[in-house]
Amino acid sequence: MSTARTSIDFDRNGKQVGFVDIPHSPHEDAWGATRIPLAVIKNGEGPTVILQAGNHGDEYEGPITLGELIRELDPAQISGRIIFLPALNIHAVLAGRRTSPVDGLNLNRTFPGNHAGTITQQISAYVTDIIMPMGNAYVDLHSGGSSLNILPSAIIEPAADPVLRKKNIAAVLAFDAPLTVVIDNLGEPRTSTAASVRAGLVTVGTEMAGAGTVSIDALGICRRGVRNVLSHFGVLPTTGKAPTARPENILTLPGHDGYVYATSNGVFEPFHPLGATVRKGEAAGRIHNLGDPSRTPETLFYAADGIVYGRRQPGKVVVGNCCVNVACRYEGNIT
Ligand code: CA
Repeated sequence: MSTARTSIDFDRNGKQVGFVDIPHSPHEDAWGATRIPLAVIKNGEGPTVILQAGNHGDEYEGPITLGELIRELDPAQISGRIIFLPALNIHAVLAGRRTSPVDGLNLNRTFPGNHAGTITQQISAYVTDIIMPMGNAYVDLHSGGSSLNILPSAIIEPAADPVLRKKNIAAVLAFDAPLTVVIDNLGEPRTSTAASVRAGLVTVGTEMAGAGTVSIDALGICRRGVRNVLSHFGVLPTTGKAPTARPENILTLPGHDGYVYATSNGVFEPFHPLGATVRKGEAAGRIHNLGDPSRTPETLFYAADGIVYGRRQPGKVVVGNCCVNVACRYEGNIT
């Protein structure tokens, strides 16, 4: 049972901007609350689209885009309802960190959450049990975060149900990012988008650059994409333009083979820029041991054919760090 409370009335027409408060009792504040920004814009009948960002606190294009929409959209412009959660893991957002400084958790590995768990688990449980049942569609706006830079993309969360899969693909193509990529996070069930698909909502994800900064290009793509998706669902008027994103161009991360991990500690020297075409078995880069110049750098290799889709940002690496990601053509079902 959630102890969260909001003064926002989800059924009222108009624009409401406020918070959901989850009681939180740290040393400094025995009877305090975690305040999560929440906004609702509603006008008459129509679908409910949940727009969420700040799942990770060091990914900025999504929260900026949703803040603008909250301020700019007039209820008369929409048909239906938009529920905004623009800074969902608020402790991580305010700290500019991927994970919560309160309990150390990655919100996107806590779904469906736990109302009796830590604060991050309570946030995901609130989304799962209170927010998702109100929605027809769920959009989670990610970027690469501090450690990764990713080619700006709209993301398809796989769905076993063919009807939902078709709707997801159509909605993600409607976002109209330069790339459309199927990502299952190696089968990870604890993400918001996996939970959203389980709840039967049409689900859209993104990866908008990253590197812990604000990308001018990705922010433009994100702004246009969110409006495109709202038009796709009929919440905003139609754009009148067909998306340029094509189903035959959909990419995917080919499981573990899409990840090049550091095999020693040191500094990773990449060999290819983002977007480069690479081959399985080709050298991806090498790890230098700066403290011992007599040691030969250790070479890392790609395990799949494709394009360089994401790359680690800090030069320093330890064993297991993800240095490069490769995306390849998606061969799965797109109909
Ligand atoms: Ca992320």
